[in-house]
Parts: sequence; structure tokens; C-alpha cells
Amino acid sequence: MSDREAVDRDTPQPVPPYAVVVVQTPLWRRITSPTALPPDTEESDYLTRAFHYSVPERIKTEICAGQLVWVPFGSRYLQGVIVGFDHQSPVEDTREINRIADPLPVLSPIRIELAHWLSRHYLAPIHRVIQTMLPPGVIQGVDVIVRPVADCQTTQATEGQEQILSLLRQKGPLSLREISRLTRLPNWRSVVNQLIEHGWATKHHEIRPPKAKPKLVPVVRVRREVKRSDYPSRRARKQRKAFAYLLWRRRSHGADEWVPLSEAAAEAGVSPTVVRALIDKGLVELTHRQVWRDPLQGRTFVPVIPPRLTPEQDQAWQAIAADLQNPGGRPFLLQGVTGSGKTEIYLRAAQRVLEQGKGAIVLVPEIALTPQTIRRFGARFPTVLAVMHSRLSLGERFDQWRRLRNGELRLVVGSRSAIFAPVSNLGLVVLDEEHESSYKQEQTPRYHAREVAVRLAELAVATCILGSATPALESAYRAERGAYQLLRLPQRVMGHRHMLEQQADQLHRVQRHYHPVEHDLPEALYAELPPVEIVDMRAELRAGNRGILSRSLKRGIEAALAAGEQIILFLNRRGAATFIMCRDCGHVLKCPRCEVPLTYHSDARRIICHHCSYRTLAPSQCPNCWSNRIRYFGIGTQRVEQVVHRAYPNARIVRWDLDTTGSKRAHEKILDRFVTGEADVMVGTQMIAKGLDLPKVTLVGVITADTLINLPDIRSGERTFQLLTQVAGRAGRSILGGKVIIQTYTPRHPAIQAASRHDYWAFYQQEMAFRRKHWYPPISRLIRLLYLDTSADKAQREAQDLHQILTLKIARLGLPEINLIGPAPSFYSRLRGKSRWQIVIRGTDPRVLLKDLRLPLGWRVDVDPVSLL
Ligand code: ADP
Ligand code: ZN
Ligand code: ZN
Repeated sequence: MSDREAVDRDTPQPVPPYAVVVVQTPLWRRITSPTALPPDTEESDYLTRAFHYSVPERIKTEICAGQLVWVPFGSRYLQGVIVGFDHQSPVEDTREINRIADPLPVLSPIRIELAHWLSRHYLAPIHRVIQTMLPPGVIQGVDVIVRPVADCQTTQATEGQEQILSLLRQKGPLSLREISRLTRLPNWRSVVNQLIEHGWATKHHEIRPPKAKPKLVPVVRVRREVKRSDYPSRRARKQRKAFAYLLWRRRSHGADEWVPLSEAAAEAGVSPTVVRALIDKGLVELTHRQVWRDPLQGRTFVPVIPPRLTPEQDQAWQAIAADLQNPGGRPFLLQGVTGSGKTEIYLRAAQRVLEQGKGAIVLVPEIALTPQTIRRFGARFPTVLAVMHSRLSLGERFDQWRRLRNGELRLVVGSRSAIFAPVSNLGLVVLDEEHESSYKQEQTPRYHAREVAVRLAELAVATCILGSATPALESAYRAERGAYQLLRLPQRVMGHRHMLEQQADQLHRVQRHYHPVEHDLPEALYAELPPVEIVDMRAELRAGNRGILSRSLKRGIEAALAAGEQIILFLNRRGAATFIMCRDCGHVLKCPRCEVPLTYHSDARRIICHHCSYRTLAPSQCPNCWSNRIRYFGIGTQRVEQVVHRAYPNARIVRWDLDTTGSKRAHEKILDRFVTGEADVMVGTQMIAKGLDLPKVTLVGVITADTLINLPDIRSGERTFQLLTQVAGRAGRSILGGKVIIQTYTPRHPAIQAASRHDYWAFYQQEMAFRRKHWYPPISRLIRLLYLDTSADKAQREAQDLHQILTLKIARLGLPEINLIGPAPSFYSRLRGKSRWQIVIRGTDPRVLLKDLRLPLGWRVDVDPVSLL
């Protein structure tokens, strides 16, 4: 809780008679589709899911905003969160809050404000927002329990009634949910009601056991009043041993000290039943003590002394340090190549806020949340660190959340949802790899953690750092316009000299790729970024090479294999994307209206635009050079693996493919084999995240950059650049140096050119020109409306209907600064048995169009979508 909040809460103010409670009810799912827009998108209308309840006298002194309370709702009790107070109620009959479920607020005043903002900005119902902000297991539900009445006359029962009754007699009291699972009667609900009316069964409410509970362990100590004469007899040898141990504990730790039962048994070398026998005899007392489930338990962190900053790093650090001293400035955009020391800066900033007695949130993409990353933070801040990611158990997550809330832990490192961690007195928010699209949640509320981070830092008056080697265009654009403060780290640091010398020993090489930063700073060395070679696949074709591997890439593979080094061959995940390309001149067919690549549909030999629905027949000749080698294009990882295996039968190959590797564990195993050097070549669709050093990788080959560039998405150029840059960052991470080879049919493409020179800002300028020309984000903003239906016709009809409504509204309101793209089938026109149609609203503030608009059920709303596929 920041100072501001603390002040708010200290000032005694009489509690107004009404509390506004956002009721967490699963009921809404049945009323509207969970992803549908609420009936009305007027700001205040998001609060229609918030209800007024009166505050009973007995809890007036304890009640505060952000608390979880029990409220009557319909015929049952539900939990809700107090989001505010009011002097009046909009309805006449206001029901009373039943009781407070948790005296400590689950949301701070700042987080309540954040929830309102999320709801408005992402056009998402507030109860869904709150659900997202709290860890699973905090909010409890209530079950309706049906109990049979004993000894009553039920001879007149119908067949259906008899069925339910015998179920109840067999199993005892059942919740409605259990009944629905156990019976096949379609009208079981009304049958249950009949039983209650007849007085054959009763119903009452019962709190559903919480999914996550505090963990309790039995603890013991010697009873105070035990006298020497009560001690276990000599014959009970084991009991004496255990008792002696507990007596010793009492002497050394004091009479109030409790010992975990299991620990006492283990220390005394007896089984727990021996200790239990002492309890039964009344010599030892027993109670239960809460313990924290700790995902970091058993990890020892070796403390690390922060390195001296290079002059470049120091310049960036001074700007951030100034803001930490006097927070409230603009967010920082820290643009630095991989290995330039961004994390070093985050660590320093975290250290500073912890010294100030404040807390910090550091977000990294889930995939980068490796043990290495955690260790880096743990080594500097072992006692206050919390981690939050999807692999935690429910209980672990719950405990981390509560320890953050009570201020025991003050620094959280986590993935997307950790932005909602209840860090009190927040002083710093960091988003590493801020361009990563995994920061966008693909379910309601469809928030982007970057936007939330900026907003949260603003509300909490905290320092905000967004870091990336390849910032999202949105962020760079804001930096250009002055909304963010740009800091740059263009040089890669290779770390300490002694570490490199060690590496040189291990790899039996002389070091040659580094030069000292400065004469007076001998421990840090700068490293060159690896050279990138672009191979023109059209030239390969002209030279008679029709294969997947260019001559240059083959030479590279051979050299690396001969030297016992490792190779990564990268292929875009959507490698089988079906765009149409001329293999002679590299020309790609694009929509004349949207300038995105057209997609080939083999069933009708048609090509269509997934933005605007433009259609045409697939040509048989290239409109650019009249070659007839024009065709759809795509390769899979399996093909690449086969080709490499055939060419180099002795090379050990692994395939790391998100689509084909089933389980997460299998995925990790494959990666492990490569990391430990059990394989020479990895063919993959996914880039290995930062934080995992692969010193033996000296060659990274991109099989075809074109499958990335030619996805029909406005961000495909940006994605290509980001990916190629990341790929380039994976090679040459050690003294062995390295090389990157990019194969492409469009070697002059700006994204490829800029990536090959590691030049972010050149790419930025070119790409912004394209976005400006077509009025794409970040110049404009988008809202994507998506409709899914099993019937393709229905989806199309819905899309056309809504399109008409929206067009009329634009005309009626005279909104020239808003237009519509589509309706069109999505690029993934059918997924999991459902056809997908979409309409994209484009404008400076496209939300205006959705105001006062009742969207038909079933529409998904995505504000600031990261993908239009
Ligand atoms: P980034 O987050 O930009 O990828 P890191 O902070 O991880 O960069 O730095 C890359 C490597 O260089 C790390 O091993 C880090 O400890 C080391 N390093 C960074 N700055 C320095 C420095 N000033 N002196 C010595 N080593 C450094
Ligand atoms: Zn051509
Ligand atoms: Zn189009």
C-alpha cells in the first residue's frame, strides 16, 4: 500500500450506509456468454454488475473498500468485493451485507481503481476483471445442499421423485451440482423442488470448501505442568528418547517454542506415532500451525555482488535512479540489445526500492521464467522474493499472494498475471521483453500487461521500466512522441573477464571476440553481435539448387559439425502458411486494398484476403515476371529434419516443435538433450528464450524468413524483425563466436535487412512509414470483433448484420475518424470446429463506436488486439 493509500485509510471517516459490491457470481455465464460485451458499454454501466448493499451496524467499524464479503444474492449467498461506498442506493429494497469474509482487503484502493480502468478500457465486465486480479481459490462459493427427511411417507412419489429420493438415501446429503452429475433425469431441478414442497427433503446453503487453504502442520511442545514423576518410564525407550529431545528443545528455545511433530520425530530418530503416544499420555501438547508453501523452498541462493556498470549502463541508470528518488515521471523505455545489461539495471532498481522500504513487480514472459532467471533475482534478494507463474500449485500461488499482501515478501518476479500481485507500497514496475505478445491475455478481460503496468505505475506513483531489444512499435512510437523516456544500451556486454577465461578453458579455445570496455574497467568486456548472412533463395534456384538448404547453409552446417559445435535451424511456427509466391522473382501476391498477403485455398483454387474478403482466382503466371513457377508456399519442421538427416546421417538431430511435442515435460526433455550436448542439431519452431546460455551454438540458420513476413497480419513485419533479432541473439553467446544465416526469397525486405544489421531504429522508421500509409496502429487503434459459430453461414450472416449496424451508426453519428475493416473470415477461418468471422474497427478512439451499443450475444471484443489472424 503506498503512502497515499495509507493516508486514505488512516483518516477516520464515517462509513456511508451503502456499500457497492461486485458480486462474484458464476450465474452470469448463463445469462450472457462469458465473452460477450456487457449489454451497455457506457462507462457507468460496467457497474451494473456491482450491487448496492446496506452496511449493518455490527460491522460498520470493520468494513473497508477492497474487502471480500458474503452477500445474499437471489436465493443464495455469494462472495463479492466492496469497490466503494455510497450515500444512496438506486433501488428501494437494499439487502444487507451478511458478513466480512476476510478482514484484510483483497484489493487495495489503487487496485480497485485499476479494476475500474481495466473494465472501461477493455470493455470487460468488472466482475471478470476482479476474478482475473485475484488468485484462484480466494473467492469461495456456496452450494445448495439437499438432505432427505428421515421416516416420511413417500408412497405417492412419482418415478422421478423416487429416483432422486433413493439417490439421497444411498449417498446422504448432496449438493445440487452432485445431483446433476449423478442423475440422468432431464428435469431433476424441478423434481428436487417438488421433494422440498412435499417435505420429503430439505435444502440449505453451505459454503463450498475453499480450493486453496492455508496449510497447517501439527506442532508439539512439552506441557508446562508436567512433573518429573510423569516422565515416560525406562521401558518405553523410544518415548523417552522423543521426550528427551523435546525437553532439550524447551531448554534451548524456551517454553513457548513449538516444534513441528515430524521434525521432533526425525530429530529424535523415532516414528511420529511415538510422539503421538506422548500426546495421548498428556505429556506433550499439540496444536496446528500454519506454514507457507514456498516454491523457492530448498533453493539456496549464492549472494552476488553487483558488477560495476559500464559508462553506457551508468548513463541509463542515472536517469532511472533520479526517478526512483522522485517518482512520478514518464515510463522508461529501455532499448538494449540482448546481453547489454538490461537485467542488471532492473536488479539495481529493485535493490533501490527495497532499500526505500517499498516493493517491486518484475514481469518476464512465461517462457523466460527459467530457474536461471529466478536464481539471478534470488541471489540478490533471497528473503523477500516471490515468484508467480502458471506452474505453481494452487496452494503455492495462494500463499505467495498472502505473503505479498501482508508485506512479508516485497519483490515478485512473474509472468503476465503477476502484474496483479498485491505488492504493498509499490515503488517499481518492470516489464522485460515488453514486445512479447504473451503479455496479452487472450480471454476476457483481454488486457495487455504493458498497458496495465503503465497504468498501475501511474496510479501508485511508481517508477516504470519497459525493456526490450526490439520494442513494440507502440512503445517506440510513444517514446518518439515523448510519452515515454527513451534509454538505450546499444552494446552487448559479455560479462566478467574471469568468467570468459573459465569458458575458454572449458571449450579449449582462445578468446578472440571481445575487447575491453575501457582500460580502467577491466572486468567487463563488450562483445560483437554475430555477423548475419542473407542468402537469396532465388539465386540458389537459378544456380540449380532446388533444395531447402542453400549452399552457404550447408557449408556452415558441415563446418560446425566438424568442429563439434551446435546448430539451430529455425522455422516459423506457422511454416505451412499458404501464401502465393513466385520462386523466380520472389513476388508475393498481396491484396490490392490492404497490402497484406493473400491466402491460397486449395479447395476452390481461390485466393482471398483475410482482412477485407477480397477474392480472386489463383493465377498460373507471376504478374511480376510472367514465370509459371508461382505457387503456394510452406514447409514443416518434419521436412527439414528429414532433409538434414539425409544429408548428414551422423548428426544427432532433435526437433523442438510446439505444435507436435505433446506434453510440457516432453518439450523440456528435448530441450535438455540439446542443452546438455546430446544433440548436434535442433530443428525448431520456437526460439530458445533469453536466460538460457548455449555456448556451443555457433550457427543459427533461418530456413525461410518468408513464411513469417507473409502472414496476413499487419504486424508480420514487426514479428519477423523481432524474431530474427532474437535468433541472432542466440548465436555467438560464447567465446566460440557465431554466425547467422537467413534464407529468403525477399532479401531486400526491410525487416530482414534491418535485422541483419541489428538496427532497430532503421526498421522502426521503415515500418512506421507503412503503418502511417495504411493508418494502422500505432497511428490508429483497433478493436477486433470476432464471431464464432459451428455454422459458417451463421457466422457470416452475423458478421454482415453487425457490419451493417456499425456502418449505420458511423453515418448517423458522423464519425469520419472511424472506419471498419471487414467483415471477413479470419485467417484461421475454422478452428476447433467453429467458423470465425471478424470485423475490425479502426480509429483514433474506436471505443466511441461501441458506446450505447448492445452487441448481439456471442461477439468477442478485443481492444488493441495483438493479432488479427
Ligand atoms: P540483458 O538483460 O540486456 O540481456 P544482462 O543484464 O543479462 O543483459 O547482461 C548480460 C550479461 O552481462 C550478464 O551475465 C551480466 O551479468 C553481464 N553484465 C552486464 N553488465 C555488466 C557489467 N557492467 N560488468 C560485468 N558484467 C556485466
Ligand atoms: Zn515472378
Ligand atoms: Zn484486403
